[in-house]
Amino acid sequence: MTPVFDVAIVGFGPTGAVAAALLGQAGLRVHVCDLRDSVYDKPRAVALDHEILRVFDQIGVLEQVEPWIEPFTDSEYVGVDGQLIKCMTTVAPPYPMAYVPSVVFSQPPVEQALRDRVAALANVEVALGSEVVGLVQDDDSVTLQLRHGALGSADATTSAIVARHVIACDGASSRVRGGVGIELEDLGFDEPWLVIDVLANARGLARLPKVSMQYCEPDRPCSYIIGPKNHRRWEISLKEGEDPQQMATMAGAWQALTRWITPEDGELWRQASYRFHALVAQRWRAGRVFVAGDAAHQQPPFLGQGLCQGVRDVANLCWKLVAVHERRAGDALLDSYGTERKRHVQQLTARIKGIGAVICERDPVRARARDAALLAECGGVVRPEPRQNVQPRLEGALLGADRVDVDAGHVVAGTLFPQPWIVQGRALVRLDRLSGTGWRIVTNDAGMARAVPAIIERQLRSRTVEIGDDDAALREADGVLASWFRRQECRAAIVRPDHYVHAVAATPTALVQQLHELADRLAASTPAFAGAL
Ligand SMILES: Cc1cc2nc3c(=O)[nH]c(=O)nc-3n(C[C@H](O)[C@H](O)[C@H](O)COP(=O)(O)OP(=O)(O)OC[C@H]3O[C@@H](n4cnc5c(N)ncnc54)[C@H](O)[C@@H]3O)c2cc1C
Repeated sequence: MTPVFDVAIVGFGPTGAVAAALLGQAGLRVHVCDLRDSVYDKPRAVALDHEILRVFDQIGVLEQVEPWIEPFTDSEYVGVDGQLIKCMTTVAPPYPMAYVPSVVFSQPPVEQALRDRVAALANVEVALGSEVVGLVQDDDSVTLQLRHGALGSADATTSAIVARHVIACDGASSRVRGGVGIELEDLGFDEPWLVIDVLANARGLARLPKVSMQYCEPDRPCSYIIGPKNHRRWEISLKEGEDPQQMATMAGAWQALTRWITPEDGELWRQASYRFHALVAQRWRAGRVFVAGDAAHQQPPFLGQGLCQGVRDVANLCWKLVAVHERRAGDALLDSYGTERKRHVQQLTARIKGIGAVICERDPVRARARDAALLAECGGVVRPEPRQNVQPRLEGALLGADRVDVDAGHVVAGTLFPQPWIVQGRALVRLDRLSGTGWRIVTNDAGMARAVPAIIERQLRSRTVEIGDDDAALREADGVLASWFRRQECRAAIVRPDHYVHAVAATPTALVQQLHELADRLAASTPAFAGAL
């Protein structure tokens, strides 16, 4: 069948909504559906990283989201005897991405802002109350069977849509993932937890801790997170023999909170028990179908990374899909999606599990030993560690320039490229808004800027941006980029559309070589179109 849509997205949660916005604003014909009629009205995720705010900015929703976010307070870890054993914080200003690096947010209005943005894109068709119930693919297209109407209603109707590619963003129990035969690998975490959200009143706020807490107590490990405004979140591990259903009743929730507050201190927003898992899809692609977000991975909530990972997935996949649909790259480029993202998810999940192991030690003797070891490591004085330090770099298929950087003693390719504030008259503007968010060659050297071959700029549709003091250059406000270039011992960076560094160079010759290698690699992925590039 002839595809009507370039890409169909199954699931309009945060992952699907960001994918729809990215693809829609790139001009692709997109269909996105969700079996629900509206945004789920309770928060699940509570924390986000600056990388995600950068993507929100890219899709034009930052201003709509800002009223619903606040800086994440420090998280203090206390040990068996109530002593401070560890502290996670936010990096100090100037911020590397020009956003607060770690924020808490209110998920329902943020999801609504994402959906409103998608609704404004004429080339994106949104089908709410529409459940995907079947999928068939051939060499050219994928056909989705949809059932419309209230869940379980007898007068539901059906229809079919045809797209060239499908992204399954249909959550943890993804029907599409199962339908295309993608299995999940178990990364070894399976625990019952109770999650309680409270809207605290003035009395409650006065009684509660003023920073977020990790209670690393063997009897009952738990987290307390200061959400935006008066939202407070507890994630409390359940003990063997406790009934998750009973614990998730109002009575069970208030009982679990007696250590901190009583019903006079606020109202329950919601309480739910979960089994937290660590899972990753074995394959991220089956023919023309890709998995993303919770459909591709689940991780324990320590460090608040699940939703962030979903946004990283689609930020990685969507520019590749756009390049393939615009015939600027071939199908092989799409294989790099799973290679890059799966490894990143595995590495980050291992680090999250490591943090979880610190928090969740249930043996009192081992927990005391943990406390002593952590305190010994820092010489008895706990120093706050930036949360962002846990992020692994991206590795794999498209990032091939590592050897240059390895020689310099560190690896830059696959790390996030910083974003400075640029001085524009009396105003400050974030660099992405001036440089665009496609491929970028950013340099602090006029000679390097001049060296970029025009043919490469045409192929990549890249922008070359010089940051510096001469007339042609943009002037940064805080020296974020200048110190980054110094640290990386380079003068130019090739930046991907998902804001990751593809490669860096210290000389014009090295830069041109890197660019040619990149162009060749993209062209090689599409022999049929190579001549047209
Ligand atoms: C307690 C808890 C705390 C968390 N804290 C954080 C945090 O602080 N930070 C963070 O980044 N993440 C956190 N997460 C994880 C985060 O909530 C999820 O990773 C994120 O919501 C997943 O988004 P998604 O769009 O991939 O999937 P979902 O939000 O599950 O969306 C999937 C969508 O697909 C739809 N759908 C399903 N099947 C079909 C079908 N057949 N047809 C059509 N539509 C379908 C569903 O209706 C749904 O809207 C937390 C999770 C939990 C449970």
